[in-house]
Amino acid sequence: MGKPTGFLEFTRELPSKRSVEERVNDYKEFVNRYSDEKLNQQSARCMNCGVPFCHNGCPLGNVIPEFNDAVYNKEWKDAYDILTSTNNFPEFTGRICPAPCESACVLGINQPAIAIEEIEKHIIEIAFEKNFVQPKKINKRTGKKVAVVGSGPAGLAAAAQLNYAGHSVTVFERDDQPGGLLRYGIPDFKLEKWVIDRRVKLMEEEGVTFKCNANVGVNVNVNDLLREYHAIVLAGGSTVPRDLNVPGRELKGVYFAMQFLKQQNKRNANIDPLANAAVESNILAEEVLATGKNVVVIGGGDTGSDCVGTSNRHKAKSVTQFELMPMPPTSRTQFMPWPTYPMTLKTSSSHEEGADRKWAIATKEFIGDENGNLKAIKVVDLEWKSAEDGRPASFVERAGSERIMPCELALLAMGFVNPQYAGLLEQLGVELDERKNVKATEKEYKTNINKVFTAGDMRRGQSLVVWAISEGRECARKVDEFLSGGLSVLETKDQTAAALMF
Ligand SMILES: Cc1cc2nc3c(=O)[nH]c(=O)nc-3n(C[C@H](O)[C@H](O)[C@H](O)COP(=O)(O)OP(=O)(O)OC[C@H]3O[C@@H](n4cnc5c(N)ncnc54)[C@H](O)[C@@H]3O)c2cc1C
Ligand code: SF4
Repeated sequence: MGKPTGFLEFTRELPSKRSVEERVNDYKEFVNRYSDEKLNQQSARCMNCGVPFCHNGCPLGNVIPEFNDAVYNKEWKDAYDILTSTNNFPEFTGRICPAPCESACVLGINQPAIAIEEIEKHIIEIAFEKNFVQPKKINKRTGKKVAVVGSGPAGLAAAAQLNYAGHSVTVFERDDQPGGLLRYGIPDFKLEKWVIDRRVKLMEEEGVTFKCNANVGVNVNVNDLLREYHAIVLAGGSTVPRDLNVPGRELKGVYFAMQFLKQQNKRNANIDPLANAAVESNILAEEVLATGKNVVVIGGGDTGSDCVGTSNRHKAKSVTQFELMPMPPTSRTQFMPWPTYPMTLKTSSSHEEGADRKWAIATKEFIGDENGNLKAIKVVDLEWKSAEDGRPASFVERAGSERIMPCELALLAMGFVNPQYAGLLEQLGVELDERKNVKATEKEYKTNINKVFTAGDMRRGQSLVVWAISEGRECARKVDEFLSGGLSVLETKDQTAAALMF
Protein backbone atom coordinates (compact mmCIF):
# COMPACT_ATOMS: atom_id res chain seq x y z
CA MET A 1 0.00 0.00 0.00
CA GLY A 2 1.55 3.25 -1.20
CA LYS A 3 0.23 5.68 1.39
CA PRO A 4 -1.98 4.40 4.24
CA THR A 5 -3.71 7.76 4.67
CA GLY A 6 -3.95 8.56 0.94
CA PHE A 7 -7.68 7.88 0.66
CA LEU A 8 -8.32 10.26 3.57
CA GLU A 9 -6.11 13.05 2.21
CA PHE A 10 -7.03 13.11 -1.47
CA THR A 11 -10.28 12.88 -3.36
CA ARG A 12 -10.79 11.48 -6.84
CA GLU A 13 -9.76 13.85 -9.59
CA LEU A 14 -9.78 13.16 -13.30
CA PRO A 15 -7.39 14.90 -15.71
CA SER A 16 -8.61 18.13 -17.29
CA LYS A 17 -10.07 18.11 -20.79
CA ARG A 18 -9.77 20.56 -23.67
CA SER A 19 -12.75 22.93 -23.62
CA VAL A 20 -15.91 21.93 -25.50
CA GLU A 21 -15.63 25.08 -27.68
CA GLU A 22 -12.18 24.02 -28.81
CA ARG A 23 -12.52 20.26 -29.16
CA VAL A 24 -15.69 20.21 -31.30
CA ASN A 25 -13.59 21.74 -34.08
CA ASP A 26 -11.39 18.67 -34.48
CA TYR A 27 -11.32 14.89 -34.05
CA LYS A 28 -8.32 14.69 -31.74
CA GLU A 29 -8.41 13.18 -28.25
CA PHE A 30 -9.06 15.84 -25.62
CA VAL A 31 -8.26 14.32 -22.22
CA ASN A 32 -5.02 15.81 -20.87
CA ARG A 33 -2.43 13.99 -18.77
CA TYR A 34 -2.16 14.25 -14.97
CA SER A 35 0.76 16.21 -13.56
CA ASP A 36 3.29 13.93 -11.78
CA GLU A 37 1.95 15.15 -8.45
CA LYS A 38 -1.71 14.42 -9.34
CA LEU A 39 -0.86 10.94 -10.62
CA ASN A 40 0.99 10.24 -7.40
CA GLN A 41 -1.97 11.45 -5.31
CA GLN A 42 -4.50 9.43 -7.29
CA SER A 43 -2.48 6.21 -6.89
CA ALA A 44 -1.97 7.05 -3.19
CA ARG A 45 -5.75 6.75 -2.68
CA CYS A 46 -5.68 2.97 -3.24
CA MET A 47 -6.21 1.10 0.05
CA ASN A 48 -4.66 -2.17 -1.17
CA CYS A 49 -7.75 -3.99 0.08
CA GLY A 50 -7.37 -7.47 1.53
CA VAL A 51 -10.10 -8.56 -0.87
CA PRO A 52 -9.62 -6.24 -3.87
CA PHE A 53 -13.04 -6.18 -5.49
CA CYS A 54 -11.58 -4.07 -8.34
CA HIS A 55 -9.57 -7.11 -9.46
CA ASN A 56 -12.72 -9.19 -9.52
CA GLY A 57 -14.67 -6.47 -11.35
CA CYS A 58 -12.17 -6.40 -14.21
CA PRO A 59 -12.87 -9.05 -16.89
CA LEU A 60 -9.12 -9.34 -17.45
CA GLY A 61 -8.39 -9.83 -13.76
CA ASN A 62 -6.03 -6.83 -13.81
CA VAL A 63 -3.86 -6.86 -10.67
CA ILE A 64 -4.86 -3.33 -9.72
CA PRO A 65 -3.66 -2.74 -6.13
CA GLU A 66 -0.17 -3.92 -7.12
CA PHE A 67 0.13 -1.54 -10.08
CA ASN A 68 -1.32 1.34 -8.04
CA ASP A 69 1.41 0.71 -5.47
CA ALA A 70 4.13 0.64 -8.14
CA VAL A 71 2.84 3.94 -9.59
CA TYR A 72 2.85 5.55 -6.14
CA ASN A 73 6.48 4.47 -5.69
CA LYS A 74 7.36 5.56 -9.26
CA GLU A 75 8.48 2.02 -10.08
CA TRP A 76 7.40 2.43 -13.69
CA LYS A 77 8.88 -0.79 -15.09
CA ASP A 78 7.17 -2.83 -12.36
CA ALA A 79 3.89 -1.03 -12.99
CA TYR A 80 4.19 -1.80 -16.72
CA ASP A 81 5.07 -5.46 -16.12
CA ILE A 82 2.16 -5.95 -13.70
CA LEU A 83 -0.34 -4.24 -15.99
CA THR A 84 0.68 -6.11 -19.13
CA SER A 85 0.77 -9.48 -17.41
CA THR A 86 -3.03 -9.56 -17.75
CA ASN A 87 -3.80 -6.97 -20.45
CA ASN A 88 -2.22 -6.94 -23.93
CA PHE A 89 -3.60 -3.52 -24.83
CA PRO A 90 -3.89 -1.14 -21.85
CA GLU A 91 -3.56 1.77 -24.27
CA PHE A 92 -7.05 0.86 -25.57
CA THR A 93 -8.78 0.06 -22.27
CA GLY A 94 -7.07 3.03 -20.56
CA ARG A 95 -8.87 5.29 -23.04
CA ILE A 96 -12.27 3.74 -23.71
CA CYS A 97 -13.15 1.18 -21.06
CA PRO A 98 -16.29 1.93 -19.01
CA ALA A 99 -14.14 0.62 -16.12
CA PRO A 100 -16.21 -2.05 -14.35
CA CYS A 101 -13.22 -2.23 -11.95
CA GLU A 102 -14.08 1.26 -10.70
CA SER A 103 -17.72 0.31 -10.07
CA ALA A 104 -16.41 -2.56 -7.95
CA CYS A 105 -13.74 -0.52 -6.07
CA VAL A 106 -14.20 -0.84 -2.29
CA LEU A 107 -13.66 2.88 -1.80
CA GLY A 108 -16.85 3.34 -3.83
CA ILE A 109 -18.90 2.29 -0.79
CA ASN A 110 -18.70 5.80 0.66
CA GLN A 111 -16.23 7.78 -1.49
CA PRO A 112 -15.54 8.19 -5.21
CA ALA A 113 -13.65 5.17 -6.60
CA ILE A 114 -9.94 5.11 -7.45
CA ALA A 115 -9.30 6.54 -10.96
CA ILE A 116 -8.07 3.12 -12.13
CA GLU A 117 -8.64 3.63 -15.85
CA GLU A 118 -6.62 6.86 -15.97
CA ILE A 119 -3.80 5.31 -13.93
CA GLU A 120 -3.74 2.43 -16.43
CA LYS A 121 -3.45 4.84 -19.37
CA HIS A 122 -0.62 6.73 -17.67
CA ILE A 123 1.32 3.52 -16.95
CA ILE A 124 1.30 2.39 -20.58
CA GLU A 125 2.01 5.81 -22.07
CA ILE A 126 4.91 6.35 -19.64
CA ALA A 127 6.15 2.84 -20.54
CA PHE A 128 6.17 3.78 -24.24
CA GLU A 129 7.98 7.04 -23.46
CA LYS A 130 10.60 5.22 -21.39
CA ASN A 131 11.05 2.60 -24.16
CA PHE A 132 9.99 -0.31 -21.96
CA VAL A 133 7.63 -1.47 -24.69
CA GLN A 134 9.77 -3.49 -27.06
CA PRO A 135 8.84 -6.35 -29.39
CA LYS A 136 9.11 -9.61 -27.45
CA LYS A 137 11.52 -12.20 -28.85
CA ILE A 138 9.85 -15.54 -29.49
CA ASN A 139 12.50 -18.11 -28.58
CA LYS A 140 10.95 -21.27 -29.95
CA ARG A 141 8.55 -21.72 -32.86
CA THR A 142 6.19 -24.71 -32.75
CA GLY A 143 5.77 -25.07 -36.51
CA LYS A 144 1.99 -24.74 -36.09
CA LYS A 145 0.02 -22.17 -38.15
CA VAL A 146 -3.05 -20.35 -36.85
CA ALA A 147 -5.45 -18.16 -38.85
CA VAL A 148 -7.30 -15.46 -36.92
CA VAL A 149 -10.30 -14.03 -38.77
CA GLY A 150 -11.03 -10.47 -37.64
CA SER A 151 -8.63 -7.90 -36.22
CA GLY A 152 -10.75 -6.29 -33.50
CA PRO A 153 -9.55 -6.43 -29.90
CA ALA A 154 -10.52 -10.14 -29.60
CA GLY A 155 -8.61 -11.15 -32.75
CA LEU A 156 -5.62 -8.98 -31.84
CA ALA A 157 -5.42 -10.42 -28.32
CA ALA A 158 -5.75 -14.01 -29.56
CA ALA A 159 -3.07 -13.36 -32.21
CA ALA A 160 -0.65 -11.76 -29.73
CA GLN A 161 -1.01 -14.59 -27.21
CA LEU A 162 -0.77 -17.41 -29.79
CA ASN A 163 2.35 -15.77 -31.19
CA TYR A 164 3.88 -15.65 -27.69
CA ALA A 165 3.12 -19.39 -27.44
CA GLY A 166 5.32 -19.88 -30.51
CA HIS A 167 2.71 -20.44 -33.20
CA SER A 168 2.84 -18.67 -36.57
CA VAL A 169 -0.20 -16.41 -36.71
CA THR A 170 -1.87 -14.72 -39.69
CA VAL A 171 -4.70 -12.25 -39.07
CA PHE A 172 -7.26 -11.85 -41.89
CA GLU A 173 -9.22 -8.57 -41.96
CA ARG A 174 -11.81 -7.54 -44.52
CA ASP A 175 -11.39 -3.82 -43.86
CA ASP A 176 -8.45 -1.93 -45.36
CA GLN A 177 -6.76 -1.54 -41.96
CA PRO A 178 -6.64 -3.66 -38.79
CA GLY A 179 -8.42 -2.80 -35.52
CA GLY A 180 -12.09 -3.82 -35.93
CA LEU A 181 -14.40 -1.39 -34.16
CA LEU A 182 -11.38 0.29 -32.56
CA ARG A 183 -10.47 1.48 -36.08
CA TYR A 184 -13.85 1.78 -37.78
CA GLY A 185 -16.54 2.50 -35.21
CA ILE A 186 -15.08 4.22 -32.17
CA PRO A 187 -14.45 7.88 -33.11
CA ASP A 188 -10.94 9.30 -33.26
CA PHE A 189 -11.76 11.78 -30.49
CA LYS A 190 -12.06 8.80 -28.10
CA LEU A 191 -9.20 6.78 -29.58
CA GLU A 192 -6.76 8.25 -32.10
CA LYS A 193 -5.78 5.65 -34.65
CA TRP A 194 -2.00 6.01 -34.26
CA VAL A 195 -2.55 4.16 -31.00
CA ILE A 196 -3.68 1.09 -32.99
CA ASP A 197 -0.92 1.53 -35.61
CA ARG A 198 1.71 1.61 -32.85
CA ARG A 199 0.44 -1.69 -31.42
CA VAL A 200 0.02 -3.40 -34.80
CA LYS A 201 3.60 -2.44 -35.74
CA LEU A 202 4.86 -4.05 -32.52
CA MET A 203 2.88 -7.20 -33.23
CA GLU A 204 4.32 -7.34 -36.75
CA GLU A 205 7.83 -6.97 -35.34
CA GLU A 206 7.02 -9.86 -33.00
CA GLY A 207 6.11 -12.01 -35.99
CA VAL A 208 2.32 -11.70 -36.51
CA THR A 209 1.26 -11.33 -40.17
CA PHE A 210 -1.70 -9.08 -41.08
CA LYS A 211 -3.64 -9.53 -44.31
CA CYS A 212 -6.13 -6.69 -44.91
CA ASN A 213 -8.79 -6.45 -47.64
CA ALA A 214 -9.13 -10.18 -46.98
CA ASN A 215 -12.79 -11.06 -46.51
CA VAL A 216 -12.85 -14.74 -45.57
CA GLY A 217 -15.77 -16.39 -47.32
CA VAL A 218 -15.73 -13.77 -50.11
CA ASN A 219 -12.27 -13.17 -51.58
CA VAL A 220 -10.44 -15.62 -49.30
CA ASN A 221 -11.56 -19.23 -49.57
CA VAL A 222 -12.70 -20.85 -46.32
CA ASN A 223 -11.54 -24.30 -47.46
CA ASP A 224 -8.04 -22.96 -48.17
CA LEU A 225 -7.87 -21.76 -44.56
CA LEU A 226 -9.07 -25.14 -43.24
CA ARG A 227 -6.46 -26.91 -45.38
CA GLU A 228 -3.51 -24.60 -44.68
CA TYR A 229 -3.85 -23.83 -40.95
CA HIS A 230 -3.68 -26.08 -37.89
CA ALA A 231 -6.32 -23.99 -36.10
CA ILE A 232 -8.67 -21.09 -36.90
CA VAL A 233 -9.98 -18.43 -34.51
CA LEU A 234 -13.18 -16.69 -35.59
CA ALA A 235 -13.21 -13.16 -34.15
CA GLY A 236 -15.46 -11.41 -36.66
CA GLY A 237 -17.50 -9.40 -34.15
CA SER A 238 -21.27 -8.88 -33.94
CA THR A 239 -21.95 -6.78 -36.98
CA VAL A 240 -25.66 -7.04 -37.85
CA PRO A 241 -27.30 -3.83 -36.56
CA ARG A 242 -30.75 -3.78 -34.95
CA ASP A 243 -33.17 -2.14 -37.39
CA LEU A 244 -36.26 -0.01 -36.77
CA ASN A 245 -38.99 -1.17 -39.08
CA VAL A 246 -41.46 1.70 -38.92
CA PRO A 247 -43.05 3.45 -41.92
CA GLY A 248 -40.54 5.57 -43.85
CA ARG A 249 -37.48 3.46 -42.92
CA GLU A 250 -36.45 3.44 -46.61
CA LEU A 251 -36.16 7.25 -46.82
CA LYS A 252 -32.91 8.94 -47.73
CA GLY A 253 -31.61 10.30 -44.45
CA VAL A 254 -32.22 7.23 -42.26
CA TYR A 255 -28.98 5.29 -41.71
CA PHE A 256 -27.35 2.86 -39.34
CA ALA A 257 -24.93 4.53 -36.91
CA MET A 258 -22.01 2.48 -38.16
CA GLN A 259 -22.50 3.70 -41.74
CA PHE A 260 -22.14 7.25 -40.46
CA LEU A 261 -19.30 6.65 -37.98
CA LYS A 262 -17.14 4.55 -40.28
CA GLN A 263 -17.23 7.22 -42.96
CA GLN A 264 -15.88 9.79 -40.51
CA ASN A 265 -13.11 7.45 -39.32
CA LYS A 266 -12.10 7.09 -42.98
CA ARG A 267 -12.20 10.83 -43.66
CA ASN A 268 -9.94 11.39 -40.65
CA ALA A 269 -7.48 8.88 -42.10
CA ASN A 270 -7.63 10.60 -45.53
CA ILE A 271 -9.24 7.51 -47.02
CA ASP A 272 -12.14 7.81 -49.46
CA PRO A 273 -15.20 6.90 -47.33
CA LEU A 274 -16.93 5.39 -50.36
CA ALA A 275 -14.08 3.19 -51.57
CA ASN A 276 -13.68 -0.57 -51.12
CA ALA A 277 -17.36 -1.48 -51.09
CA ALA A 278 -16.60 -4.79 -52.79
CA VAL A 279 -14.70 -6.15 -49.78
CA GLU A 280 -15.69 -4.20 -46.66
CA SER A 281 -18.94 -3.97 -44.75
CA ASN A 282 -21.04 -0.84 -44.07
CA ILE A 283 -19.91 1.06 -47.15
CA LEU A 284 -22.65 3.29 -48.61
CA ALA A 285 -22.88 4.68 -52.12
CA GLU A 286 -23.07 8.24 -50.79
CA GLU A 287 -21.54 10.36 -48.06
CA VAL A 288 -23.62 11.00 -44.92
CA LEU A 289 -22.99 14.34 -43.22
CA ALA A 290 -24.85 15.93 -40.32
CA THR A 291 -23.83 19.46 -41.29
CA GLY A 292 -26.73 21.94 -40.97
CA LYS A 293 -29.25 19.18 -40.23
CA ASN A 294 -31.59 18.41 -37.37
CA VAL A 295 -30.13 15.08 -36.27
CA VAL A 296 -31.97 12.49 -34.23
CA VAL A 297 -29.88 9.67 -32.79
CA ILE A 298 -32.09 6.72 -31.90
CA GLY A 299 -30.48 4.70 -29.10
CA GLY A 300 -28.99 5.86 -25.82
CA GLY A 301 -25.82 3.75 -25.55
CA ASP A 302 -22.13 4.18 -26.44
CA THR A 303 -22.74 4.06 -30.19
CA GLY A 304 -25.47 6.70 -29.90
CA SER A 305 -23.19 8.91 -27.85
CA ASP A 306 -20.47 8.58 -30.52
CA CYS A 307 -23.01 9.73 -33.14
CA VAL A 308 -23.78 12.76 -30.96
CA GLY A 309 -20.08 13.71 -30.72
CA THR A 310 -19.56 13.23 -34.45
CA SER A 311 -22.71 15.19 -35.39
CA ASN A 312 -21.56 18.12 -33.24
CA ARG A 313 -18.20 18.06 -35.02
CA HIS A 314 -20.05 18.09 -38.37
CA LYS A 315 -21.83 21.24 -37.06
CA ALA A 316 -25.35 19.86 -37.06
CA LYS A 317 -28.18 22.35 -36.61
CA SER A 318 -29.50 20.39 -33.63
CA VAL A 319 -28.70 17.03 -32.04
CA THR A 320 -31.34 15.04 -30.16
CA GLN A 321 -30.86 11.59 -28.69
CA PHE A 322 -33.77 9.23 -28.02
CA GLU A 323 -33.86 6.44 -25.48
CA LEU A 324 -36.81 4.07 -25.15
CA MET A 325 -36.13 3.44 -21.45
CA PRO A 326 -36.88 6.01 -18.73
CA MET A 327 -34.06 8.18 -17.39
CA PRO A 328 -32.00 6.12 -14.92
CA PRO A 329 -31.23 7.40 -11.39
CA THR A 330 -28.10 9.53 -10.93
CA SER A 331 -26.75 7.39 -8.06
CA ARG A 332 -27.08 3.84 -6.77
CA THR A 333 -30.49 2.78 -5.40
CA GLN A 334 -31.46 -0.04 -3.04
CA PHE A 335 -31.80 -2.23 -6.13
CA MET A 336 -28.18 -1.75 -7.26
CA PRO A 337 -26.01 -1.77 -4.14
CA TRP A 338 -22.23 -1.79 -4.26
CA PRO A 339 -20.44 -3.79 -5.75
CA THR A 340 -23.02 -4.59 -8.45
CA TYR A 341 -22.63 -2.71 -11.73
CA PRO A 342 -24.73 0.44 -11.25
CA MET A 343 -27.32 1.14 -13.95
CA THR A 344 -27.10 4.88 -13.29
CA LEU A 345 -27.22 7.87 -15.63
CA LYS A 346 -24.07 8.07 -17.76
CA THR A 347 -23.14 11.46 -19.16
CA SER A 348 -20.41 10.98 -21.75
CA SER A 349 -17.97 13.60 -22.98
CA SER A 350 -20.09 13.76 -26.16
CA HIS A 351 -23.15 14.64 -24.11
CA GLU A 352 -21.14 17.42 -22.46
CA GLU A 353 -20.66 18.83 -25.96
CA GLY A 354 -24.39 19.28 -26.42
CA ALA A 355 -27.40 17.07 -27.05
CA ASP A 356 -31.05 17.17 -26.15
CA ARG A 357 -31.48 13.79 -24.44
CA LYS A 358 -35.04 12.50 -24.47
CA TRP A 359 -36.07 9.52 -22.35
CA ALA A 360 -39.04 7.14 -22.59
CA ILE A 361 -39.75 8.07 -26.18
CA ALA A 362 -40.55 5.89 -29.20
CA THR A 363 -40.30 6.55 -32.93
CA LYS A 364 -43.56 5.88 -34.78
CA GLU A 365 -42.73 7.00 -38.32
CA PHE A 366 -40.13 8.65 -40.56
CA ILE A 367 -41.75 11.31 -42.76
CA GLY A 368 -40.31 12.24 -46.16
CA ASP A 369 -40.69 15.00 -48.74
CA GLU A 370 -41.76 14.49 -52.35
CA ASN A 371 -38.19 13.50 -53.32
CA GLY A 372 -37.91 10.71 -50.75
CA ASN A 373 -35.74 12.73 -48.36
CA LEU A 374 -36.35 12.53 -44.62
CA LYS A 375 -37.86 15.75 -43.28
CA ALA A 376 -39.49 14.85 -39.96
CA ILE A 377 -40.02 12.13 -37.42
CA LYS A 378 -43.23 11.17 -35.59
CA VAL A 379 -42.71 10.27 -31.93
CA VAL A 380 -44.71 9.34 -28.84
CA ASP A 381 -43.90 9.45 -25.11
CA LEU A 382 -44.01 6.25 -23.07
CA GLU A 383 -45.20 5.57 -19.53
CA TRP A 384 -43.13 2.85 -17.86
CA LYS A 385 -44.10 0.55 -14.98
CA SER A 386 -41.35 -0.96 -12.80
CA ALA A 387 -41.08 -4.55 -11.63
CA GLU A 388 -40.46 -5.50 -7.99
CA ASP A 389 -36.67 -5.30 -8.49
CA GLY A 390 -36.98 -1.66 -9.54
CA ARG A 391 -36.27 -2.32 -13.21
CA PRO A 392 -38.58 -0.77 -15.83
CA ALA A 393 -40.71 -3.71 -16.97
CA SER A 394 -43.53 -2.61 -19.28
CA PHE A 395 -44.80 0.50 -21.00
CA VAL A 396 -47.81 2.05 -22.64
CA GLU A 397 -47.91 5.03 -25.00
CA ARG A 398 -48.93 8.24 -23.26
CA ALA A 399 -52.31 9.32 -24.70
CA GLY A 400 -52.13 12.57 -26.65
CA SER A 401 -48.31 12.79 -26.69
CA GLU A 402 -47.84 11.92 -30.37
CA ARG A 403 -46.05 14.74 -32.20
CA ILE A 404 -43.86 15.52 -35.19
CA MET A 405 -40.31 16.86 -34.92
CA PRO A 406 -38.14 18.22 -37.77
CA CYS A 407 -35.37 15.78 -38.67
CA GLU A 408 -33.25 15.49 -41.81
CA LEU A 409 -30.85 12.83 -40.49
CA ALA A 410 -31.84 9.88 -38.28
CA LEU A 411 -29.11 7.56 -37.03
CA LEU A 412 -30.11 4.12 -35.77
CA ALA A 413 -27.89 3.22 -32.82
CA MET A 414 -29.88 0.47 -31.15
CA GLY A 415 -27.12 -2.11 -30.90
CA PHE A 416 -26.21 -5.23 -32.83
CA VAL A 417 -28.25 -8.41 -32.94
CA ASN A 418 -25.71 -11.05 -33.98
CA PRO A 419 -22.73 -11.81 -36.25
CA GLN A 420 -23.18 -11.94 -40.01
CA TYR A 421 -23.99 -15.52 -41.03
CA ALA A 422 -23.68 -15.24 -44.82
CA GLY A 423 -20.19 -15.98 -46.11
CA LEU A 424 -17.70 -17.13 -43.47
CA LEU A 425 -20.03 -18.76 -40.91
CA GLU A 426 -22.39 -20.28 -43.45
CA GLN A 427 -19.58 -21.78 -45.51
CA LEU A 428 -17.95 -23.26 -42.42
CA GLY A 429 -21.32 -24.59 -41.22
CA VAL A 430 -20.77 -23.44 -37.63
CA GLU A 431 -23.56 -23.99 -35.15
CA LEU A 432 -25.20 -20.91 -33.62
CA ASP A 433 -26.65 -20.49 -30.13
CA GLU A 434 -30.20 -19.32 -29.38
CA ARG A 435 -29.13 -15.66 -29.80
CA LYS A 436 -27.58 -16.48 -33.21
CA ASN A 437 -24.02 -15.96 -31.94
CA VAL A 438 -21.42 -18.60 -32.74
CA LYS A 439 -21.96 -21.45 -30.28
CA ALA A 440 -18.99 -22.18 -28.04
CA THR A 441 -18.72 -22.27 -24.26
CA GLU A 442 -16.82 -19.66 -22.24
CA LYS A 443 -14.66 -22.53 -20.96
CA GLU A 444 -13.61 -24.07 -24.27
CA TYR A 445 -14.15 -21.42 -27.01
CA LYS A 446 -14.48 -24.35 -29.44
CA THR A 447 -17.11 -24.46 -32.17
CA ASN A 448 -18.75 -27.61 -33.55
CA ILE A 449 -16.17 -27.64 -36.39
CA ASN A 450 -12.87 -29.40 -35.70
CA LYS A 451 -9.97 -26.99 -35.05
CA VAL A 452 -12.23 -23.90 -35.34
CA PHE A 453 -12.49 -21.67 -32.24
CA THR A 454 -14.26 -18.36 -31.61
CA ALA A 455 -13.94 -15.33 -29.31
CA GLY A 456 -15.20 -11.80 -28.70
CA ASP A 457 -18.50 -10.30 -29.80
CA MET A 458 -18.92 -13.11 -32.36
CA ARG A 459 -19.25 -15.56 -29.45
CA ARG A 460 -20.62 -13.51 -26.53
CA GLY A 461 -22.69 -10.97 -28.51
CA GLN A 462 -22.24 -7.21 -28.51
CA SER A 463 -20.07 -6.31 -25.55
CA LEU A 464 -16.98 -4.30 -24.55
CA VAL A 465 -13.36 -3.97 -25.64
CA VAL A 466 -12.16 -5.31 -22.29
CA TRP A 467 -14.29 -8.43 -22.69
CA ALA A 468 -13.04 -8.91 -26.26
CA ILE A 469 -9.41 -8.81 -25.05
CA SER A 470 -10.24 -11.20 -22.23
CA GLU A 471 -11.98 -13.62 -24.63
CA GLY A 472 -9.09 -13.43 -27.12
CA ARG A 473 -6.60 -14.33 -24.38
CA GLU A 474 -8.67 -17.18 -22.94
CA CYS A 475 -9.42 -18.55 -26.41
CA ALA A 476 -5.71 -18.47 -27.30
CA ARG A 477 -4.95 -20.66 -24.29
CA LYS A 478 -7.53 -23.20 -25.45
CA VAL A 479 -6.11 -23.17 -28.99
CA ASP A 480 -2.61 -23.65 -27.55
CA GLU A 481 -3.83 -26.63 -25.48
CA PHE A 482 -5.40 -28.08 -28.63
CA LEU A 483 -2.23 -27.62 -30.68
CA SER A 484 0.13 -28.90 -28.02
CA GLY A 485 -2.13 -31.81 -27.13
CA GLY A 486 -1.75 -31.00 -23.44
CA LEU A 487 -1.11 -28.05 -21.17
CA SER A 488 -0.77 -24.50 -22.49
CA VAL A 489 2.29 -22.37 -21.91
CA LEU A 490 -0.07 -19.39 -21.50
CA GLU A 491 -1.14 -18.60 -17.93
CA THR A 492 -4.74 -18.22 -16.78
CA LYS A 493 -5.59 -14.85 -15.24
CA ASP A 494 -5.90 -16.52 -11.83
CA GLN A 495 -2.39 -17.96 -12.13
CA THR A 496 -1.00 -14.52 -13.02
CA ALA A 497 -2.86 -12.81 -10.18
CA ALA A 498 -1.78 -15.45 -7.66
CA ALA A 499 1.86 -15.02 -8.65
CA LEU A 500 1.71 -11.24 -8.30
CA MET A 501 -0.50 -10.85 -5.24
CA PHE A 502 0.89 -13.36 -2.81
C1 LIG B 1 -19.61 2.84 -32.25
C2 LIG B 1 -19.16 1.92 -31.16
C3 LIG B 1 -18.56 2.44 -30.04
C4 LIG B 1 -18.11 1.61 -29.04
N1 LIG B 1 -17.49 2.15 -27.96
C5 LIG B 1 -16.99 1.36 -27.00
C6 LIG B 1 -16.30 1.92 -25.90
O1 LIG B 1 -16.16 3.14 -25.78
N2 LIG B 1 -15.78 1.06 -24.97
C7 LIG B 1 -15.91 -0.30 -25.08
O2 LIG B 1 -15.39 -1.03 -24.25
N3 LIG B 1 -16.58 -0.86 -26.12
C8 LIG B 1 -17.11 -0.06 -27.08
N4 LIG B 1 -17.79 -0.62 -28.13
C9 LIG B 1 -17.89 -2.10 -28.22
C10 LIG B 1 -16.56 -2.70 -28.71
O3 LIG B 1 -16.04 -1.93 -29.75
C11 LIG B 1 -16.74 -4.15 -29.15
O4 LIG B 1 -17.32 -4.87 -28.08
C12 LIG B 1 -15.40 -4.80 -29.51
O5 LIG B 1 -14.74 -4.07 -30.52
C13 LIG B 1 -15.60 -6.24 -29.99
O6 LIG B 1 -14.36 -6.75 -30.40
P1 LIG B 1 -14.27 -7.97 -31.43
O7 LIG B 1 -12.82 -8.16 -31.67
O8 LIG B 1 -15.05 -9.13 -30.92
O9 LIG B 1 -15.02 -7.51 -32.75
P2 LIG B 1 -14.85 -6.23 -33.69
O10 LIG B 1 -14.16 -5.12 -33.02
O11 LIG B 1 -16.21 -5.99 -34.23
O12 LIG B 1 -13.89 -6.75 -34.85
C14 LIG B 1 -14.30 -7.75 -35.76
C15 LIG B 1 -13.49 -7.63 -37.03
O13 LIG B 1 -13.68 -8.79 -37.83
C16 LIG B 1 -13.73 -8.41 -39.20
N5 LIG B 1 -14.40 -9.46 -39.95
C17 LIG B 1 -15.66 -9.90 -39.78
N6 LIG B 1 -15.92 -10.90 -40.65
C18 LIG B 1 -14.79 -11.08 -41.37
C19 LIG B 1 -14.43 -11.96 -42.44
N7 LIG B 1 -15.31 -12.86 -42.93
N8 LIG B 1 -13.19 -11.89 -42.94
C20 LIG B 1 -12.28 -10.98 -42.47
N9 LIG B 1 -12.58 -10.11 -41.47
C21 LIG B 1 -13.82 -10.18 -40.92
C22 LIG B 1 -14.49 -7.09 -39.15
O14 LIG B 1 -14.25 -6.33 -40.32
C23 LIG B 1 -13.90 -6.44 -37.90
O15 LIG B 1 -12.76 -5.68 -38.24
C24 LIG B 1 -18.29 0.20 -29.15
C25 LIG B 1 -18.94 -0.34 -30.26
C26 LIG B 1 -19.37 0.52 -31.27
C27 LIG B 1 -20.07 -0.06 -32.45
S1 SF4 C 1 -10.87 -2.00 -4.53
FE1 SF4 C 1 -10.23 0.16 -4.91
S2 SF4 C 1 -9.14 0.75 -3.04
FE2 SF4 C 1 -9.30 -1.50 -2.98
S3 SF4 C 1 -7.40 -2.28 -3.94
FE3 SF4 C 1 -8.88 -2.06 -5.61
S4 SF4 C 1 -8.54 0.02 -6.45
FE4 SF4 C 1 -7.53 -0.06 -4.42
